[in-house]
Amino acid sequence: MNDITCPKCGGLTQGLIDGLCKDCFFKASHLIEAPLVLYAKICPTCGAQLLKGKWNNDYTIPEIVIQTAEDALLIHDKADDIELCIEPKQMTPHVYRVKIEASATILGEPVQQSIETEARITRIACDMCSRMSGNYFEAILQIRAASRHPTEEEKKRCMQIINNTLDKMQKKGDRTAFITNSAEARDGIDLYMGSANATRIICKEIVAELGGGFAESSSLFGRKDGKEVYRMTFSLRLPEFMPGDIIEFKDKVVEIKKFSKSVTGTDLIKSGRFISSPDDMKGFVLIAKRSTAKKAVVVSIEKDEMMLLDPDNFETVTVKIPVPFSASEGDEVPVIKASIGLVALPDETSRKNDL
Ligand SMILES: [Zn+2]
Ligand SMILES: [Zn+2]
Repeated sequence: MNDITCPKCGGLTQGLIDGLCKDCFFKASHLIEAPLVLYAKICPTCGAQLLKGKWNNDYTIPEIVIQTAEDALLIHDKADDIELCIEPKQMTPHVYRVKIEASATILGEPVQQSIETEARITRIACDMCSRMSGNYFEAILQIRAASRHPTEEEKKRCMQIINNTLDKMQKKGDRTAFITNSAEARDGIDLYMGSANATRIICKEIVAELGGGFAESSSLFGRKDGKEVYRMTFSLRLPEFMPGDIIEFKDKVVEIKKFSKSVTGTDLIKSGRFISSPDDMKGFVLIAKRSTAKKAVVVSIEKDEMMLLDPDNFETVTVKIPVPFSASEGDEVPVIKASIGLVALPDETSRKNDL
C-alpha cells in the first residue's frame, strides 16, 4: 500500500481519517463537548422544569441539571460504546458545576475525556402558571342544585372531587388541568377552568358520586388572531334530594340512597326498595335527614312491631320494625316524625355514596 502524506504534520501514513493521520485525528478529536454555560429552566411558582421544549414535574433539580447537560452534550460521531458519568455539584442556590466523564471507543481505540461546565438555574413561569396568572380559562363550571342551594358540605365535597381529579390529570401530564379562578355565586359556585376536557371528567365524577346531572354549552367568547374563540359552560345541577334525606308525599315516606337520572331509596312504610325517577317525584318534600334523626329508646320488641319512647314527649308508641333492624330492647334507634307518626329507620346499609 502506498503511504500518504498527512496534510497537518507532514508525516507519512497508510490512510487518512477525516483527512488526517491517525495521531493528528485523535489529537484533533474531542470525544465530548459542551457549552461553557448551560441553562436549566425551572418555574419559580410550581417547580416545573422545561426539558426538550416540554414542561413537566417529574424531576428533582440535580436530575434536571444532569438531563440538561446530557441534552447539550456533543458526542463524537465516530464514538461507540459510550459511557457517561455526569456529576452536578451545587455551588450557589442557582449555580451547579457539572463534571462530565466519558469513555468510548473511536475506530476501535479506547478514548476517555472529562470536561466541566456550569449549569445555571433560570427561573421562568411555566405554561401552566403563566396561563393561570393571565386568567386563562377554557370552560366555566357552574355548581348548582335543583330547587335549593348546594349545602356547605356538598360544596366542600365537590371541591375535593375537583382537586383530586385535577391532581390526577396533572400527574398524567395534562398541564391545562387547573382552576384559574373561583367565585361564590348566590346559588352555588362558579369555577373558571383551564381545560374543558378536565371539566367534563369532573362533572361525570361528581354526578357519579352525588347524583344530579350536567349540561354543556358553548358560546362565542371573542376573537383571537382572527379566529373565533369559544368558551364552554358546564352547568352541574346537584339533585334536589341527597343520600340520607327522608322525604314524604301522600302515603309514602322514603329515605333517599341516590337521586340522579333514576332515584333509589328505601320505602320506610312498606320496608322495601323504592325506585323512581325525578319526574315522577314532584310533590315530595324533605321532612328529615338520617344524619340529624333523633334517637328513641326501644322499650320492647314483638314480632313485627316494637314499643319506643317518643323522644319528644317520652310517651310509648308502637311502630313497625323496619328491615334490616338489629337493635335490642334498651337500645337507642334513629326515628323521624312523618304525617303518620313516628317511623323507625332501618339499620344503615352501604352508605358510601352518602355525604
Ligand atoms: Zn498527521
Ligand atoms: Zn409553574
